[in-house]
Order: sequence, then structure tokens, then C-alpha cells
Amino acid sequence: MKKLPAHWQMLIALILAASTGWLFRRLDNAGSGEFISAAVATCEFIGNLFMQALKMIIVPLVAASIIAGIAGLGNVKGFGKLGLKTLGFYSMTSLLAILVGLMFVNVLEPGRTNGEANREIQAAFDREHEQASEANLAKVESANSKKGSDFVDIFKKMVPPNIFAAASNNGQLIGLIFFSILFAIAMTSLPARQMEPLLGGVSALHEVMVRMTQWIMVMAPIGVFGLLLPVVYETGPELFLSLGKYFLTVLLALGTHLFITMPLVLKLCGNVNPWAHMKAMRVALMTAFSTASSSATLPETMVCVEENSGVSKRVTGFTLPLGATVNMDGTALYECVAVLFVAQVMDIPLGLVAQFGIVLTALLTSIGVAGVPSASLVAILIILNNSGIPNANVAVTALLAVDRLLDMTRTAVNVFGDSCCAVVIAKSEGESLKV
Ligand code: ASP
Repeated sequence: MKKLPAHWQMLIALILAASTGWLFRRLDNAGSGEFISAAVATCEFIGNLFMQALKMIIVPLVAASIIAGIAGLGNVKGFGKLGLKTLGFYSMTSLLAILVGLMFVNVLEPGRTNGEANREIQAAFDREHEQASEANLAKVESANSKKGSDFVDIFKKMVPPNIFAAASNNGQLIGLIFFSILFAIAMTSLPARQMEPLLGGVSALHEVMVRMTQWIMVMAPIGVFGLLLPVVYETGPELFLSLGKYFLTVLLALGTHLFITMPLVLKLCGNVNPWAHMKAMRVALMTAFSTASSSATLPETMVCVEENSGVSKRVTGFTLPLGATVNMDGTALYECVAVLFVAQVMDIPLGLVAQFGIVLTALLTSIGVAGVPSASLVAILIILNNSGIPNANVAVTALLAVDRLLDMTRTAVNVFGDSCCAVVIAKSEGESLKV
């Protein structure tokens, strides 16, 4: 029998996980608790193992691909231009994403329904805050304490005092990226013959990491099943109902960015076939959706962009690790929608100037947000406080309770945005691609 392609296996796993999670929730309510708790805990264990396996690859893969990609060319001519183009692309697409979000939240006004419905949402906010788990309250608390440091911190993290400590700090790749770039540039400045063995070793290391990632990807259907089932099982439909219009607004805006804005950008800026590229990225997108972490997805993103879209190591090595840390289209869009939604619910008018301020802060904070689950809630707290919206904690705790599905979707949008940059930049550098 012919083997089913990986993306079909993953899609089937996601559908099975969603339906089993839903079934478990029903059965649990009917009183068959113990078996179900054990089954859900097993799934959680498997999902975590999968995520850890991906994270295990990140540090050596990122370091090896940056060093091999840059030093492999033998000189760093044109590297500055590559950097500028990448940053330009990332800022432009994040801004586009924010504008799409702003448009939807202003037109649909999910938080400004009739008085009755609005009171219901406010009551749901309060209820969620009262019933919030210790873990969620602690998350909001720690987000509150981190406020303000995020953006400045990114510059500090760029030059880590200890490269091994930086590499072992989850989600903080920026120090490792900076170190690897410097390392590669230093290599090109030394005699080529002397560097040959080191370059050969690093290139071989890169090949080994790609092979290991491919092995982990074989386990992806089981991994995503394990990740999604507990989410569906644990998330009740109650809050979704009162926040339904908000959900719809976020999903519509994210969908518009993913299926209309980015394909247009791909076509116009790089003459890339958007659908072929999306197809090439299927496995990484489904992993991003299940893990809700662009950092954990990074190894798969890199393998898909290199192997399926045909981008060189030099471009993927630079654009993708950087993108996973600083470029978050979905997150930037989400921050805007969430903040304006809360303002609408609280009945606080935000004029054009205030909205412009929000756009700017969303752009900056989306750079500082780490590629880990629910990371943007910190940014939302910052923006809510900056905009003088009261009770920010209560609102954010409520949003956290329903965050997972939106987090999964915006992470897929984040990862797709990074991959689009890689192909557009590769085209502009004259590479011939498969898409
Ligand atoms: N989970 C997102 C990511 O990893 C970040 C966020 O928006 O919370 O890309």
C-alpha cells in the first residue's frame, strides 16, 4: 500500500484529536472520569515529548545553518543588503497585518453590541477572572511584572554575556543568532585553507540536524494528536459563546492576512506561486497550529523552506531564525484586535490618534514577544495600560481562558509570514526556487 503523505497523516490526526477530545468531554460530564483523565494525561505526555524533541534540535540547527550558510560563501559581500531587505520585509508585512486587524475590528465592532450583550461580555470577563486557575493568574501576574522591559530587553539579549546560557534559554534565539553571524563573519576573514575543516564540520552538522528533524517529522501526526486532544477536552464552549463575535473577527482577520494579503505579497514582491509555497509549508503550518509556538516549529519551518521551496541555506539560515523571534504578523494583528475589542467592551472611545499609538506599540511589542504559547498576552497588557484602559488584568485573564485556539491560528500565520520572507528574499537574490 502506498504510504499516505505526511500532511494527510497530520490532518487526519488533527481531526481525530478534535473529535476524540470533544467525545471525552461529553463522556466526562456523563461520569466516566478516571479512564478519561488517564487518557488525556497520556496524550499530554506524548504532545510534550514531541514539542521537546523539536526544541532539542533548535540550537544546533540554527547555529549550524547560519554559520554554514554565511561562511560557506567565503565572503560576506551583500550580507548587509540581505539584512536590510529582511528587516524591511518583516516590518512591511507586520504593518499590513495590523492594518487588516484594525479594519476588521473597526468594521465588525465585536465589543460594541447592544447594551445587554455588552454587559454579558463584561460579566463573562469578571466570572473568568474569579474562576481563573492559579496558573493563569500567575501568568498574568508575571506578565505584569515583565511589562515595559520587553522591547529594550531584545537589544540586551542580542549580546548575551554567556552564549551557552542564551542558547539554553527557551524562546530567546536572538543572542544565538547574533553570535552565529559574528562567528561566520570571523571565519570568512581568516585564511580559507585554515577554515576548511571547520566549515566542513559545520556543514556536516547542518546535514545531520536536518536529518534528525526529518525523523521527528515522521512522528508529527502522533505529536499533534497528543497536543490537540487535551486542548479540545479542556476548553468549554461557554465563554466561546459570549465571545463568539470576537473569535470570528480575529479568525476572519487572520484568514484574510494568510489567504489574501500574503499571497498578494508573494506574487507582487517575488513572483512566487503562493499556493505552491503554501503547499510546500503544509507540515510546518500544521505543526505551528498544534504547538502554538513559532520557536518550537522552527526546525520544521527551515526544513520545509529548504527542501520543498528550494531556498538556499544562506537565506533560510538568516531569515527564519530571526523571523521566529522578531516577526509575528499574526501576533501583531491579534494584539490590535484584542485591545480594541476590550476598549469597545469597556465603552472607551479610541480615536484615530489613539489607534495610531496602538499600531505603533503593537508593531514594537510583536518584535519583543517570544515565540512561545500565549506570549502576546504580555504585549496586550502593555498596550491596554498605555491606552489607559482600566481593569486590564481582568480582561487579559478572560482572554487567556480562550486563548489557545486563537494562539494556534496566529502562530500558523506567524510561521507562514517568516517563510514568505525567505522565498521573496531568495528570489531577490537571484536564486531559482521550486515555487
Ligand atoms: N504563540 C505565538 C508564537 O509562538 C506568540 C503569541 O502570539 O502568543 O508565534
